[in-house]
Amino acid sequence: MNVARSRTLARRRIASRRADLAALASTDTLTEIDLRMMRRALRLAAGAAAVGEVPIAAVVWRRTGDGIEIVAEAANDREATGDPTGHAEIVALRRAGERLGSWRLTGCSMAVTLEPCPMCAGALVNARLDRCVYGATDPKAGACGTLYRIAEDTRLNHRVEVVGGVLAEESVALLRGFFRSRRARRRG
Ligand SMILES: [Zn+2]
Repeated sequence: MNVARSRTLARRRIASRRADLAALASTDTLTEIDLRMMRRALRLAAGAAAVGEVPIAAVVWRRTGDGIEIVAEAANDREATGDPTGHAEIVALRRAGERLGSWRLTGCSMAVTLEPCPMCAGALVNARLDRCVYGATDPKAGACGTLYRIAEDTRLNHRVEVVGGVLAEESVALLRGFFRSRRARRRG
């Protein structure tokens, strides 16, 4: 993503969980669980940066009788696998399908640190996912509201509820830090 263009987002400082919710009041369906899952995805993304992957990660979860079950999670692994489809969302959906023994992920939600691209947004629809909560918007590839609205396109056979901008500044900070240190390494 174009990190520089997200600088304004990064300037917003969110001090507490309560402030998180207040700042995100426009996304009225946002829940504490969404925030918890996004924090988990952000930690996973930070781990990916440490092994040279672009820091983007996704967590798939579902509600159970008495709480939340993490169904699958993944970070972007394109560098390690050489797989052009190795985006965090695709890897997480694949693992979720394996885990549940079904491609149909009805009842599941995803938190992903960066707005899904067209490929991943298409995969969310194909997986029949209930909801997608994303962090930073992606002006170069965002397909859940920025360039396209694939997940909510009524012409398709399934719609995924989308909540965007959740803890976006943390995601932007991770991405910016990663690209900055990569540029520094290349210069050095
Ligand atoms: Zn993608």
